[in-house]
Amino acid sequence: YGPAPESNAEVKAWLSTRSAGIGHFIDGKFTSADGDLIDVVNPATEDVISRVAKGSAADVDAAVAAARAAFPKWSALPGHERAKYLYAIARHIQKRERFFSVLETMDNGKTIRETRDIDIPLVARHFYHHAGWAELVADEFPQHKPVGVCGQIIPWNFPLLMLAWKVAPALAAGNTVVLKPADLTPMTAHAFAELLVEIGLPAGVVNIVQGDGETGAAIAGHPDIDKVAFTGSTDVGRLIRRQIAGSGKKLSLELGGKSPFIVLEDADLDAAVEGVVDAIWFNQGEVCCAGSRLLVQEGVAPRFFEKLKARMATLRVGDPLDKTMDMGAVVSMKQLSRIKALLKAGEQEGATLNLAPVALPEKGAFCTPGFFTNSHPANSVSQVEIFGPVATTLTFRTLDEAVALANDTRYGLAASVWSENVNRAIELAARVKAGVVWINATNMFDAAAPFGGYRESGYGREGGRTGMLEYLTTGWDKQGKVRAAS
Ligand code: NAD
Repeated sequence: YGPAPESNAEVKAWLSTRSAGIGHFIDGKFTSADGDLIDVVNPATEDVISRVAKGSAADVDAAVAAARAAFPKWSALPGHERAKYLYAIARHIQKRERFFSVLETMDNGKTIRETRDIDIPLVARHFYHHAGWAELVADEFPQHKPVGVCGQIIPWNFPLLMLAWKVAPALAAGNTVVLKPADLTPMTAHAFAELLVEIGLPAGVVNIVQGDGETGAAIAGHPDIDKVAFTGSTDVGRLIRRQIAGSGKKLSLELGGKSPFIVLEDADLDAAVEGVVDAIWFNQGEVCCAGSRLLVQEGVAPRFFEKLKARMATLRVGDPLDKTMDMGAVVSMKQLSRIKALLKAGEQEGATLNLAPVALPEKGAFCTPGFFTNSHPANSVSQVEIFGPVATTLTFRTLDEAVALANDTRYGLAASVWSENVNRAIELAARVKAGVVWINATNMFDAAAPFGGYRESGYGREGGRTGMLEYLTTGWDKQGKVRAAS
């Protein structure tokens, strides 16, 4: 339990040899870090832990050319041969679980308890699951072929897990990849590339180009990319959709959310309070499917809010490498300011901000957990994704009102329903427009369960059989290149 002191020392030693900066991983080789470098900061300490190169159009060209060159051989491998690589990746991640957990915590600010118990185990699970798909894909989808070269752009809130969600199905289906991590959290993707060299993945099958939004735009717009997979904000998702409209590229978008967490009068309130801990305070609230709108039936609302206040007061916020902490730092000082501005706007609109009476470290991007009461459905805090550890609350009388409130958002990513009457909960769940609805649970993920949104939360699914289809096509020409109109 807890990060062993030697794993912290190992990561520090690993980082110290990379303090000058990290480059890209193209055609099986690492480029040196030069040109414009972006500081990589540990948000809990505000220390610069490394620097990362910003991929240029030429870097993207080289990565796409490498992925294109690797595609014929990789896609022609029998599925069970591709599966061997995916199993090897999963096994190596497990063997190096401590290393990846500590590195992710230092890069992102999330707690070691989370990286150790959730993020990194789910990464391994994702590769194991998709190793199975590599073996099955030809039989399960006999009419389909891999799409080709996939451009994948991921956010900073679950850096290695989002990489796994993208890379595993792409490789299982026989595609090759050009992936760009978020510039705030590039380190575990770099360590992952080192692992790919160790297991002997053929050069060019996975290429990692580091950089910011400009690099991302160069990937999405590259003419020799056949599919774009993006996870991030709704605004950038919209830009990408516009940018590639008419190009014939396949596209999947996993975007933002403002997910309802519905507590009925007959719910087990203590269980629901624990649910809120996982819904909005887990990962500092930096979760696309966070239960950020608590909809509570009027009869139990005062009691529920009191219980929530009492539970909130017990949360521990601090050094994310300390295994007793419930919450670490948010990803950057800039993100902290953005969260604070949204909270201020909520208060100015008349909502009451209840903050946990917890002490924060003096330094670092730490944010006090809390929740709003007395808010209105039209308030900004009821509509805008805060992406921080603060939920808004609204009350309702009837189930029809609950459904109307739940669906009163431009998003539709996730929802949860809390009730001891399972029939009632299932009936309500079916009326909520969301890609996933949990009953008496929240933020549960599994590699076999498709995840994705409705409306402005994006489209396409990741995980399981449905997720595999995002990386397959029936449009295929004799040159082995996907037809533009597929
Ligand atoms: P972001 O949209 O700012 O950035 C996401 C990625 O896109 C980064 O790698 C960034 O460098 C890149 N990017 C930025 N501008 C680009 C452009 N014009 N073209 C191409 N790429 C560009 O999002 P973020 O702040 O990193 O992440 C937070 C957002 O991600 C939240 O809105 C959250 O809800 C969403 N998210 C969604 C899911 C999901 O599965 N639906 C999962 C995690 C996060």
